[in-house]
Amino acid sequence: MSDKQHANRPLADFIVHNLDSAVVFPKPYRGGKTAVSWQTEELQHVSIASKDGRIVWVGPAAELGQNVTIEGSARFYNGEGLLAVPGFVDSHTHLVYAGDRSDEFEMRVQGRSYLDILAAGGGILRTTNAVRGLSEEELFVKSAQRLEQVMKTGVTTVEIKTGYGLDLENEMKMLRVIDQLKAAYPVRIVATFMGAHAVPADRRADPDAFVDEICNVWIPEVARSGLAEFNDVFTENKAFSVAQSRRILEAGLKHGLKAKIHADEVNVLGGVDLAAELGAVSADHLLMTGDEGIKKLAGSGVIPTVLPGTSTYLMESHHAAARKMIDAGLPLAIASDHNPGSCQFLGANIIQSLAMLQLKMSASEALIAGTLHAAHALALGNEIGAIEVGRRTDLALFALNSFRQIGYQVGQNSLFELIIDGTPVFGEQ
Ligand SMILES: [Zn+2]
Repeated sequence: MSDKQHANRPLADFIVHNLDSAVVFPKPYRGGKTAVSWQTEELQHVSIASKDGRIVWVGPAAELGQNVTIEGSARFYNGEGLLAVPGFVDSHTHLVYAGDRSDEFEMRVQGRSYLDILAAGGGILRTTNAVRGLSEEELFVKSAQRLEQVMKTGVTTVEIKTGYGLDLENEMKMLRVIDQLKAAYPVRIVATFMGAHAVPADRRADPDAFVDEICNVWIPEVARSGLAEFNDVFTENKAFSVAQSRRILEAGLKHGLKAKIHADEVNVLGGVDLAAELGAVSADHLLMTGDEGIKKLAGSGVIPTVLPGTSTYLMESHHAAARKMIDAGLPLAIASDHNPGSCQFLGANIIQSLAMLQLKMSASEALIAGTLHAAHALALGNEIGAIEVGRRTDLALFALNSFRQIGYQVGQNSLFELIIDGTPVFGEQ
């Protein structure tokens, strides 16, 4: 080999060597109006080379040496017997919370209505009381336990929302807890401010004044703190109107917070139109979204994110129209929506199963929706979410023969190792 060819070979400081297989996406969605492809390819006998936390080469294990210059101090991870998929991205969670609402779950399965549950003291505001009652340290400990469970399912990036403080002091406390989790764990964490999750009991007399305060006081303070990247709002009859949601999202945009929206979960109010109009990064839930909403989402650049765990947990009579969204060419994403009230499904692998069972997605569709498209839902779609040269070396290694077994083995977990930024997390070998 000539010196020139040598010079063109990438340097590697970390190699996952001799994997049984690795899943790549031949035509990954690049964001905006670019084409969506649901194609996966399962390569056999593969190595993945990484430098400074980024993938520099993917190819047949036997050809590693002739394609990559391996640094003397490079670390090797033995991939024999393992399958590599892109680390999962859980782009919608309410992971920081406290309290127990198992009684509400039991009431619901026994057929009691949401109003009954509210009358019995249930709902979001019950969690708000629990969160307000804890110190930052106590809330951190409870949330960290959950985050560790999430990581064990193959998640390398997780979004976490506030929204159980519902006053400035406690919303900021939640943001600081999220920040502490970032510092304590290698998993990538994206923080979303969601002061507009519900109207607290003492603000019910004048919800517009509450919205004013979010826009004029909370959002500037959150933006100043630098602790949140996104601003989210619950657009529903029982929460915030489209007009209120518009004010909240516009205030966030003005202060540099990217927009997300909880839309069409119970009623079609116009949240999807608002998302398209304001250029929200994602519109989430979409349980009631029909043909008209799908048309508005098409080509809008908004990532439609559906949450099959929630519709299952709430025993809804139907699930989001994922098949129609896929047929319309939308870059559909899936996420867990893990929260204390309406969805206790946690992590990635069970959501892969539910996407197949409830949304009738194929294994390839579920994988792409839960990795690459979910990364786009966090504005990270060209940085993570696929095994591709140039992206971060974020991998989930499973002791499985094929990625098709992830969704198939419902409720089981064959995760062997998590690699984030080119570093094994659990160190099992
Ligand atoms: Zn949510």
